Amino acid sequence: MQRVTILGSTGSIGKQALDVVRMHPDLFSLQGLSAHSSEEAFRVQLKAEHPRRAVFSRPMEKPWYGVKLRFGQEALCELASDPDTDVVVLAISGIAALTPLLAALRAGKRVAIANKESLVCGGDLVKKALEAGEGELLPVDSEQSALFQCLQNGRREEAEKLILTASGGPFFRRPREELRDITPEQALKHPTWSMGRKISLDSATLMNKGLEVMEAARLFDFPGEQIEVLIHPQSLVHSMVAYRDGTVMANLSVADMRLPIQYAMTWPERMPSPAEPLRLWERPELTFFKPDMDRFPALRMAYECLRAGGGCPVVYNGANERAAELFFAGALGFLEIEESVSFALDRFRNRPMRDLEDILAADGEARRLVDEFQKTRRSK
Ligand code: NDP
Ligand code: MG
Repeated sequence: MQRVTILGSTGSIGKQALDVVRMHPDLFSLQGLSAHSSEEAFRVQLKAEHPRRAVFSRPMEKPWYGVKLRFGQEALCELASDPDTDVVVLAISGIAALTPLLAALRAGKRVAIANKESLVCGGDLVKKALEAGEGELLPVDSEQSALFQCLQNGRREEAEKLILTASGGPFFRRPREELRDITPEQALKHPTWSMGRKISLDSATLMNKGLEVMEAARLFDFPGEQIEVLIHPQSLVHSMVAYRDGTVMANLSVADMRLPIQYAMTWPERMPSPAEPLRLWERPELTFFKPDMDRFPALRMAYECLRAGGGCPVVYNGANERAAELFFAGALGFLEIEESVSFALDRFRNRPMRDLEDILAADGEARRLVDEFQKTRRSK
């Protein structure tokens, strides 16, 4: 029996992780839940699920149905390292997931990790935490889960390329000049997946794929030159690994996040899941396109950041997080998201990231640079 704590339980991944736990009462018991701002949704979860522990980011009014409820960042890290938890599902969005991730790894937990921003920014700190103890990282992000599964078919040195697939987002076929006036509502309509707000926007700007290139490099320890992106609008092939004899291993399934969430929790076992079987004959068309790096600067910048190392990946992520907030608030246009990331990267003086303080400082700097970009735009 695995005791499970879900951090970010009110989100899209968090709710699906709860589904997985509920579906296998013989395998999993629920230990803890955390949420940030969705007070009403969290209250409903506490009432229905009765976790043994819970953390909310700010003080919450009673009642909380007899659940041991605590508040704030420190309590969140304590929940991540709770001695009565075996598996932590990390479903918090943004760089906010980094401190609980480090806490969970240092406490020797298995972390089923959906959050990519913490891996992109955490770099060596995450690696050190893994090397120092018993902690393990099992990817939930569908592309990384696919790579993880394909990589089990050969030795590390036999694998030549990691091939990440990308749906291309809702605007893949639109000319760039039409993208300037895209509204938040349009950007949130993902063609194949239903996800949280931030990652849906990241999929439309291709920043998500840029983050995933860096995420794959971190998770599997491959350099950027061995990581490729292919546009695959049907989202059935979740990613592939090309081996040196010319064999390509691919991972296919219907688009249902409960599948990779569950696999990260049960690995190395495979259990029945609620995902629909894949009926390939009903979807005869699988297409693939090489992305054009000029058309998708978000991807090009990600490769550059990976090569540059140091604080560049942190700035890429922090600038994008801030730009996304401003876009949703109506203060930045759609194409200004990647423009502001580029603006921040151009002005950032790169340096090594030795500890969490360095990372948070670079993140703060990136956010300030985006605000500066936004002000210069508005004054034009
Ligand atoms: P959502 O926005 O739907 O959910 C985010 C969750 O994190 C919520 O429970 C939210 O709480 C909590 N949260 C937000 N900010 C903070 C904070 N500062 N401190 C603590 N908790 C916080 O996101 P998704 O579920 O879509 O995505 C979660 C992560 O998984 C992201 O990193 C994303 O990139 C990754 N991912 C998501 C996929 C998907 O299909 N959705 C696929 C692959 C990866 P509250 O609601 O209470 O504010
Ligand atoms: Mg993904």
